[in-house]
Amino acid sequence: MLTVRRAFRQAGSPKAKALFLVIALGSWFLYFFSHRIFDRTAPKLTINNLADGETLTTSLLLEITANDQRAGIKDLYLQINDAQPQKLQKLPKQTIKRVREYNYDLSSLEDGQYQLTATALDRAFRTNESYLHINFSVDRNPPQVHFTTKPKVGLQGNTIAIFIVSNELLGSIEANMFGKVQTFYPLPMSEKSSEYYWYRCLVGVSVTQQIGYHSLDLIATDRVGNQSTATFVVEIEKKEFERGGYIKLSPQKQKLMLDKSKGRSDNVKRSQAYTVSEKTAKQLWDSHFIRPASGILTSPFGKYREYNTGIKRHHLGTDIANQTGTAIYASNAGVITLAERLYIYGYSIIINHGQGVSTSYSHLSKIEVAVGDNVEKDQLIGLMGATGQVTGPHLHWHMAVNGVAVAPEQWTEVNFSSPKSKDPN
Ligand SMILES: [Zn+2]
Repeated sequence: MLTVRRAFRQAGSPKAKALFLVIALGSWFLYFFSHRIFDRTAPKLTINNLADGETLTTSLLLEITANDQRAGIKDLYLQINDAQPQKLQKLPKQTIKRVREYNYDLSSLEDGQYQLTATALDRAFRTNESYLHINFSVDRNPPQVHFTTKPKVGLQGNTIAIFIVSNELLGSIEANMFGKVQTFYPLPMSEKSSEYYWYRCLVGVSVTQQIGYHSLDLIATDRVGNQSTATFVVEIEKKEFERGGYIKLSPQKQKLMLDKSKGRSDNVKRSQAYTVSEKTAKQLWDSHFIRPASGILTSPFGKYREYNTGIKRHHLGTDIANQTGTAIYASNAGVITLAERLYIYGYSIIINHGQGVSTSYSHLSKIEVAVGDNVEKDQLIGLMGATGQVTGPHLHWHMAVNGVAVAPEQWTEVNFSSPKSKDPN
């Protein structure tokens, strides 16, 4: 400062003195404001604890850092969706020069999707701005799951469709009924509605299922792990299955029936084929099933029969009798999972219709399809015959839902695709 004073004194004439003063003031002004005059760089904006696309499952105090090395930060605004932008107060601590920190509490946000916009303005005369957009969602509440089916009654040997609706997409659904895991699959309609998600569980009721009240216990977990539970009660009623029918098998066929290894071999192959449908989440069938062949219904599903081998059991299929060579059509669309000759069942075909549903066609004289083929509803798949353990030419038409043998005729009357369809029982 002394040198400046001395320079001023030695500047000579008043005119020169004035010029000196102007230059000195100008220099001083430039010295103190240059960073605000010449700063053309926007501030650096960072959100430290929220990433784009993140889902918040707990409360969060947002941490924002704004940094402007030349002019420094003037203001920081925060906007959530279309709400009014809020000016945030900087935190008192300032660890590094020209770096400011801000907090914003996100704990009051409801579950949903959000877009956050942070805007930082610097102190430059031209005001440089920078923006930061972050899309995130909040999911702190358990899913709201409701059964959309009224408390209902199921019959032994039938299929029950249980529907649930959820307010959010579910990550998993664990369900148990009859001491068995039951699977809920998303319904295709859930794609149309953005607000609700529909799921359906098809429960096969065994012909020997104990009558009375049974509950389906469910744990629904959303995509971030929030859980809710629900219970649905179904009353299982007794089905009066037809009784009687004494089946006389030839000595050769009696031997076949009593040879447990043959039956076991058939059942292993059949259950393997049925399991494929339990792993197929997509519904391949469409609306009602059709009766696969013309002919006389000789033995309805569930009929209790006695054989001359001494064995008494429910007949777990529907028999349609006609001449050898009568066309057999696919009951509904699906994929072939078995097409070969079995010991007891003769030439057999199994179709996977998806979501644990399969139909099988046995005692054929000819198979017209191969494993892996896609078939349409009403497509010719084989010809009626009398192969395997039979007394005459007929089709043994069987249906499995989640591994349980159920009456296929019910599926020709009920469309299980929609919760609006008439009561399945
Ligand atoms: Zn049969």
